[in-house]
Amino acid sequence: MAASDTVPAVTLHAGTALRGWGGLGVPGREAQGEDLRALTEGVPTLSRGMGRSYGDASLPPPGVTAVVGTRRANRVISFDPDTGLLVAEAGLSLREIVDVFLPRGFFPPVSPGTWFVTLGGAVASDIHGKNHHVAGTFGAHVQWVVMRVASGDIVRCSRTEHPELFLATLGGMGLTGHVLEVAVTLQNVSSPWIWREAMKVPTFDALLDGLETSSDWEQTVAWIDTLATGRSFGRGVLMRGRWARPWEAPAHFPPAGIEPVVPFNAPSFLLNDWTVKAFNELYYHKQVFRNVVGPVTPRGWFTPLDAVHHWYRAYGRAGFTQHQSVIPRSAGREAVRTYCETLAAHGGTGFLCVIKDCGAEGDGLLSFPEPGMSVALDLPNTPDTPALVDLLNEMTIERGGRIYLTKDTFTRREHFEAMEAARLPRFRAVRDTWDPTHRIKSAMSVRLFGDEP
Ligand SMILES: Cc1cc2nc3c(=O)[nH]c(=O)nc-3n(C[C@H](O)[C@H](O)[C@H](O)COP(=O)(O)OP(=O)(O)OC[C@H]3O[C@@H](n4cnc5c(N)ncnc54)[C@H](O)[C@@H]3O)c2cc1C
Repeated sequence: MAASDTVPAVTLHAGTALRGWGGLGVPGREAQGEDLRALTEGVPTLSRGMGRSYGDASLPPPGVTAVVGTRRANRVISFDPDTGLLVAEAGLSLREIVDVFLPRGFFPPVSPGTWFVTLGGAVASDIHGKNHHVAGTFGAHVQWVVMRVASGDIVRCSRTEHPELFLATLGGMGLTGHVLEVAVTLQNVSSPWIWREAMKVPTFDALLDGLETSSDWEQTVAWIDTLATGRSFGRGVLMRGRWARPWEAPAHFPPAGIEPVVPFNAPSFLLNDWTVKAFNELYYHKQVFRNVVGPVTPRGWFTPLDAVHHWYRAYGRAGFTQHQSVIPRSAGREAVRTYCETLAAHGGTGFLCVIKDCGAEGDGLLSFPEPGMSVALDLPNTPDTPALVDLLNEMTIERGGRIYLTKDTFTRREHFEAMEAARLPRFRAVRDTWDPTHRIKSAMSVRLFGDEP
């Protein structure tokens, strides 16, 4: 099917009132308040956290203009320093958790590349981080959630109470109900600093070898320069880290640092192969030495992009999407290489291509990671982007992989169903049990799950 046949469920526009992180959105508003029970009483169509999902996951379906905005419901309900169990409202953000709990020696068990993520959003996307190969997804650390389900009832679910609802909610993109409260076990850390090693790697094989042989490090990730061709193809920077031991860490608490703002959308001509090539060259060569070792702040390690507010504006008014897929280990290394070669050949102009080895699959019915290599690349929105997403999705399906829904904007339903043929029926059955008429839905669920608009 040609790209022009890709019909989004909702027509997304640049810069409207409710938008995904990629910059496209719809007219609408958030109903906000501190009392999520009151806000969700009439079972509204969808909940939304900080809008850090890239596409239409947190946007309402056509004809609906209001969603529940959870951000102001951010109270800590209880915390047990002996077990690390935090119970909090769904609007509490990871950044607030870090601000309050890192000085006390605790940290979220899983950290994505931004801390502007609510607990509700972390559960609904079942987020993963650099420690996926040892810690699994966020959901692995969630003990229970309290939800408003489509019947209007408030239910608590866990691995022992309504387990099917609980597992469908981990990674269920908000489609099983409104999450009101989350109980999650925080990680007790040895210091508030990260000990990191960053290494330049000259080839693709060296990069994958590096990731595989670093699996005894708690955190690993690699950046690859997709614009380097020929013998330089696959060059990148391999980063591995762990919480610093007290004697390795500086004596002071990590400073907050300054957070500049990208003040306006960059003109589209600024983003082209030459500017991205220059960025990649700089990124690769800014590390003067082959290896850099030492303590860094958690903010610098986990969320370097949070340091620049509104950085998405660098992509201009048309915005961008991200294609993130996981290629299962069983498909073999060659499958990852040819996938990345195709990205390099067709990938258009995107700043960062991030590769991460994933560990065991979690128990969330639609959780993204599975054992294999996750490859994520930002793609600027152009008229050709849907066709490129089609191509990448076809390659992903061929390799037995899947995409990460929270980053997606352009995937077609038949591709999604092909990727998720084995898991989707169980998810659908749970959703149909708890919400037979699909009162709770999103623009994404109309596009990918076949919900009536
Ligand atoms: C710079 C950047 C880096 C990122 N890096 C990573 C990464 O490394 N790993 C990773 O896994 N993700 C990553 N993400 C994605 C991000 O973690 C997820 O999109 C996350 O879900 C965003 O949380 P949010 O609060 O903004 O939720 P939103 O974007 O507002 O919503 C996301 C989904 O959660 C649902 N939802 C939100 N709150 C509730 C609730 N209370 N009840 C029910 N459903 C709810 C929404 O309906 C929607 O389907 C990154 C995003 C950005 C912008």
